[in-house]
Amino acid sequence: MLGAGGTGAWAWQDGRRPAAADDLTSARAAAAVSDDASQVSGLTAQAAQAAAQGLTDQSRAELQQAVAAARAVLDGSAGQVSDDAVRTALASALTEADQALAGTVAPARAATLTASVSTAAAQVNQAQQAWQAARAAQAAAQAAAKARAAASPAPTSSVDPCRTTYTGPPFWTSVPTATGDGSNGNLPASSMTALSWTTDSHGTRFYLLTPAAQALERLNVAFRAAFGHNLDIDLAYRDYATQVAMRAALGTVAAVPGTSPHGYGKAIDVPELPCEYGWNSAQRAWLLAHGPSFGWVQPAWALQNGSGPEYWHYEYTG
Ligand SMILES: [Zn+2]
Repeated sequence: MLGAGGTGAWAWQDGRRPAAADDLTSARAAAAVSDDASQVSGLTAQAAQAAAQGLTDQSRAELQQAVAAARAVLDGSAGQVSDDAVRTALASALTEADQALAGTVAPARAATLTASVSTAAAQVNQAQQAWQAARAAQAAAQAAAKARAAASPAPTSSVDPCRTTYTGPPFWTSVPTATGDGSNGNLPASSMTALSWTTDSHGTRFYLLTPAAQALERLNVAFRAAFGHNLDIDLAYRDYATQVAMRAALGTVAAVPGTSPHGYGKAIDVPELPCEYGWNSAQRAWLLAHGPSFGWVQPAWALQNGSGPEYWHYEYTG
């Protein structure tokens, strides 16, 4: 029995041991499970924290990237948008993002700012592209117009509208001859009147036969009303001595002394240059249209297709 008892005791002990062992194992297991849970719990928190930090870092980096790209768009679009309001909006979004980036910015806030900066930058990009397209279209239209003009030049463009046949020395207007006999280039002062508004470059007044001068005074009033300034005069009366000198200097280009309408005090020359009164000028057109009603005309020989074209020469026929 002892043996049995012993066995029994042993057996009991044996019988207990497993139980005890089981209890211990269970306790240990429970403890282990508890430790594991604690560890798992700790690891999970760490992971969550790391994940959260990662998200913060990532969203911040994305915002910084969007800000850098948008700033380049803003800098590169100065003067290249029609309405600067889109650039003002982008600058404002960038300021807001910069202020957020100066501190800690929550991921959600960073994402919002990234979106607003990127949207504003896209709008500036779009406006800049529209501006560039409009500019290109304008340049193309100008080039096309230029090409058309080159292909079909104006009929008169190859002709200098102020081409002058005069290449001689300068001559100035003449004063009346005190004892003039009334012949060409020898008009007495009593028959002449000086124009009221101008002199030549020597300060000599421009004399004409009195009725011619009076008619030109009236013409000048109308001319001034049309153009805002007086009629320019280059030459009026020319005395006989000057006609002889001109003939000597110019040959047949100058009138035979004693035949020039300037010698009769019935002609004027307007300035040849700087072309204000040239062939196609508004001033010449006005003088041809309105001059005759004042008795002042451009004679046939002085016209462009005449025998001696002189756009500057006008005569009194009244
Ligand atoms: Zn003349």
